[in-house]
Amino acid sequence: MKQRLIVATNNKHKAQEIKDMLAGLEFEVLSLSDIGIDIDVEESGSTYAENALIKAMALRDLTDGWILADDSGLEIDALDRAPGIYSARYLGEDTPYMIKNSIILDKLEDIDDRSARFVCSIALVFEDGSYWITVNKCEGSISDSIQGINGFGYDPIFIPQGYSQTFGVLPVEIKNSISHRAKALQAVVQYCKLLAEESYV
Ligand code: IMP
Repeated sequence: MKQRLIVATNNKHKAQEIKDMLAGLEFEVLSLSDIGIDIDVEESGSTYAENALIKAMALRDLTDGWILADDSGLEIDALDRAPGIYSARYLGEDTPYMIKNSIILDKLEDIDDRSARFVCSIALVFEDGSYWITVNKCEGSISDSIQGINGFGYDPIFIPQGYSQTFGVLPVEIKNSISHRAKALQAVVQYCKLLAEESYV
């Protein structure tokens, strides 16, 4: 029987991305909507890893199987690494990103240090309560203006290292091959493959 793996997200896009990456392995990958659970867990940790683990552990009491949860954010060095773990809530949870991004650009006006990175942590919690965590980064810089409509959130102001355009302009396939989340997912896939090879699945 396939090992049940619950992806602790309400974001259908994230769940599908993970399903696709784990296709071919001995897992039955299910999203929260697949199992009819709708929870909103308070992200009370002080690191991405803590928050990912808090989300995964909260779900462990509600369902069987392995649980996978992630937490991510944008760090801007000139802003003391803000918005960081508060990325979703920064400048108001309901504030449109067009406004958030333009306020960030205003804050960085005349500042030469544009270095920034996206960070993503993924926690995998097993049925006995033990867990495995990965933290991955995508280095880059903040652009001078809002550019593009691809992606979401801070993508229109983030230029990944080695490119001259923002994630808002770059094709989604490029983002999905180099992003913080892609790297974290690749680490998960590698770990799950290892477990499958060792017959732990
Ligand atoms: P969470 O990991 O779902 O809690 O999301 C954290 C927040 O970080 C998002 O709401 C966005 O503001 C930001 N963020 C995380 N990953 C990305 C990304 O790939 N592009 C743009 N913004 C992101």
